[in-house]
Amino acid sequence: MHKIGIDLGGTKTEGILLDEKYNTIQRKRIETHQENGYDSIVKSIISLVNELKSKTNEETSVGICTPGVINTKSGLIKNSNTQCLIEMPLKKDIENMLGYKIFMENDANCFALAESVLGSAKGKGKTNIAGEWGHHTLHPNGNECYCGKHGCVETYISGPALEMRWLEITGKKEPLQSIVQDLSDEKAKQWKKEFLDNFGIGLANVIDILDPDIIILGGGVSNISFLYDEGKKAVYNKVFSDSIETPILKNSLGDSAGVFGACILSS
Ligand SMILES: [Zn+2]
Repeated sequence: MHKIGIDLGGTKTEGILLDEKYNTIQRKRIETHQENGYDSIVKSIISLVNELKSKTNEETSVGICTPGVINTKSGLIKNSNTQCLIEMPLKKDIENMLGYKIFMENDANCFALAESVLGSAKGKGKTNIAGEWGHHTLHPNGNECYCGKHGCVETYISGPALEMRWLEITGKKEPLQSIVQDLSDEKAKQWKKEFLDNFGIGLANVIDILDPDIIILGGGVSNISFLYDEGKKAVYNKVFSDSIETPILKNSLGDSAGVFGACILSS
């Protein structure tokens, strides 16, 4: 059975067709036009699936990786940062239009699945990432989050949050990859210290609760090289144990983990 995976992202939607051994037969990336609304997103997913399906004569499974969570009772999407999906029956609508069943899973879970089967955690025992870690509380009276709570992990150590904090401290609007080029002055040091403190507490909580075999970082923030030495040290300092060796590694599938994970859903 060949596998079609679709990664529905906030800015791009990627589709991939794999054979049974996860070799890539075809892949295609299109822009996600959130501004055109829910129906247009559904239509573009359908046409991407159909286009990939036409590239093989084999039977195919279809898996979709989506931001947010599917409410298991109602089948509706919740907690999605692509907000036009919220409260919509995305899986059912796509199945109705395609005329067959598909698989659908949250993007963080697809990332974990792909990295554990094909990427940096290959051969390790567990899947290693707990549900909605981005919305665990770091600071109860902290930054406001779109989820309705305050002080979520995501509002401190995600790319957009780090860029926002940089703007607050330095008055400069810069993308993350340029911010980390030079962190020598006092303001930059303050930004980095806060970042490492939050990163340390956030991941130490995960280790204290789950004791995973390995932690794989994903997203734009995972490109910051100091997270793998100074960041790891900040985490180890906060873990409730005098000896700790949990590897903290960069993903090896980059931003393709989503589509591969979506394909693996059917395995
Ligand atoms: Zn939140």
